[in-house]
Formats: sequence, C-alpha cells, structure tokens
Amino acid sequence: MSRVLVLNCGSSSVKYRLFDGAETSAKGLIERIGEEGGDATDHRAALQHIMESVDLAGLAAVGHRVVHGGPRFSDPTLIDDDVVADVEALVPLAPLHNPAALSGIAVARKLLPDVPQVAVFDTAFHATIPPEGVTWAIDKSLAERWQIRRYGFHGTSHAYVSRQTAKVLAKPVEETNVITLHLGNGASACAVEGGRSVATSMGLSPQGGLVMGTRSGDIDPTVVFHLHRVAGLPLDEIETSLTRHAGLVGLTGDNDLRAVLERRQAGDPEATLAFDVYCRRIREYVGAYLAVLGRVDAITFTAGVGENSPVVRAATLAGLESLGIAVDPERNRRAERIISPDGMPIAVCVVPTDEELEIADQSRAALQP
Ligand code: ADP
Repeated sequence: MSRVLVLNCGSSSVKYRLFDGAETSAKGLIERIGEEGGDATDHRAALQHIMESVDLAGLAAVGHRVVHGGPRFSDPTLIDDDVVADVEALVPLAPLHNPAALSGIAVARKLLPDVPQVAVFDTAFHATIPPEGVTWAIDKSLAERWQIRRYGFHGTSHAYVSRQTAKVLAKPVEETNVITLHLGNGASACAVEGGRSVATSMGLSPQGGLVMGTRSGDIDPTVVFHLHRVAGLPLDEIETSLTRHAGLVGLTGDNDLRAVLERRQAGDPEATLAFDVYCRRIREYVGAYLAVLGRVDAITFTAGVGENSPVVRAATLAGLESLGIAVDPERNRRAERIISPDGMPIAVCVVPTDEELEIADQSRAALQP
C-alpha cells in the first residue's frame, strides 16, 4: 500500500492529507499563512511544519492540486522543471489560483527532493468535452492567441462522484450517464457520458456557471462594460465585486447557505429570492445537460450544499416528474445514496465527494510507466 501525501495549497492556506492506500493516516489545515497570528509565515514554513508533525517515511509521491492546467494538461503529470515552467506560464489564466500551487510545488520539491511530485489539475477531466462544448462564439483569432475557451474545474470531484454513482447504480461506468452537481463554496455542474466529461458549467476561470457563495456565476458580459463605463468602477474593483461580493453574499450579505436558509425560513424576502435564484440556476443546467446527454441514468448531488441540504435538492428538482425525475421526501431527508422513489427512469443520488482521495489515486496512476 503506497503512501501519498496530497497537498492543496491556497493563497493563505495549505490542506494536507496523508494516505496509506485508501486510508487517511494524517490530515490537517494550516491557515492564515502570512497573516498576523496565522499558523505559518509562508508556504515553506507551512510545509516544514507538516514534515515535522507527520511521519513521511516511505512516501511514494506527493500529489499537488493545481487549479488550472490550461490546454496542455489533460492528465495527472509527473512534475519536472518543464512542467513547472508550463504551469507558471498559465498564471495569467488563473492569477487567483495557480501561484499558490506553484509555491507549494517549489517548496515540496526542495524539501522532498527524492519523492516524485505529481500535479493533478482541476481542469483535466474536462479535456474530453468536444470542441463545440468549449468554444465560445467570439473572434477566433483573439480566442486562439489568448487561449480563451471553456476549461472547466472541480474535475477531480466530478470524476470521482460520477464513478461512485455508477457503483451505486451497479452499472459499468462506460455505460452510465450522470449529471453531477458539485455544490460547495464554489459550485459547478457537469454532464458525464460513460465516464467522460462532455459539458461543464465553469469556463475560462471558476467564475462562470452556477451561483456560488461569493461568485456570480453566469452573467451577460455587458455587466462588466456597464460597471466600467457607466458606474465608473476600475476593472480590478469589478473583478473583486464579481468574485468576492457576488453570489449569495452579493444578494444577502451571507455567503454561507445555512445562514441564507435560516433567514428564508424566517420569511426574509432577500434570502428567499437568493435561494430561488440559486436553485433556479442549477435547474437550468440540469435541463441543459439532460438535452446534451439525451439519456441520463442519474443526477448526483455532492459537496457541502449538495450533501447536506435536502431543501436545495428538493427545490432544484421539484415538478420534473414528467421528465422522469422525482425526489422522495423521506430518502431526501435521510440523504440516502438514492433519494428518488424506486422505479423512476432517472435516479437522484447523494454521493459524498473526496477530492483528496481522487488526487492520491491519480498521483499513483501517474507513477505507472
Ligand atoms: P468548499 O467548496 O470550500 O470545499 P464545501 O464543499 O465544504 O466547500 O461546502 C461549503 C458550503 O456547504 C458552505 O458554504 C455551506 O453553506 C454549505 N453547507 C454545509 N452544511 C450545510 C447544511 N447542513 N445545509 C446547507 N448548506 C450547508
């Protein structure tokens, strides 16, 4: 059973989990890196702390979560100088996400020079989306020059959860079509046909698609021009507004759906509208992906909201019996693996995601020649 250390480096945090086979033998979170009173002064100190507190003897690999793999990376990739240079070249595409992963990679390579390091990309699973699903109808020469297209994210989660759904249905992955709904702080939908992603809601960055805790999801791009030209906001302020002060927090002041649900329960109209906007957007994507896939075996909810909110699951899929979709209230309340009534053409599932386990498995796979 080989040991793999999975590192998920954010700009101010490092999440780690040590796997012996599929078992977790250590895990932790180092937060507020570089802030006063934080757990570490920088990523190097954070990793040093992990290495001092966790026994890393016999480590087979370090698996790094990297958000953006751009057009090149469609598989987990053994890291060398060339790969690092290519991930660096992708920073303009993912300025909010890739730099932290790069500093984690640099420090881990220095501190563990004899251990293979593997980059596992959030975008990779979506490399199978056909050209018509990733191409936007904009000036082709601009798109090509600046690598503008849909990439999609949360790939490790959609991959893991769609495979688990096939297991729940006791069907071969190759014959199973699933719409996966990853609803966490970030949120995205994915259409998975026989184990391969064929459509997803996030785009060039993790900003598009569903309504999220602090991100807007899909908007007409004219909103940006209008905020710049008419409202006079500089571009970086618009970016901050749409990535950090939009979504649920933009509509209600609360980015945590639990708070929004409580306020809605108490009759708060702001929270009620935000909830309706949130569920309506998911529903629109479910409808779109039913049409993309043609035949669907299951719709699967996952991540913080998807796994824990019966209210969101029920509201999102209400009234779709004529499409073969229904939610059983009791199964939904208990978050059973299958929450649709027996005998429905499309199963509705709740499957806990495990991105770190998927990263560990993919890292091991990348070591095979
Ligand atoms: P991340 O994307 O950071 O990994 P998670 O997948 O853990 O986040 O999801 C976090 C979100 O899950 C929180 O914003 C919270 O609103 C939501 N959540 C967690 N538990 C519940 C619950 N019982 N009901 C509704 N929402 C929940």
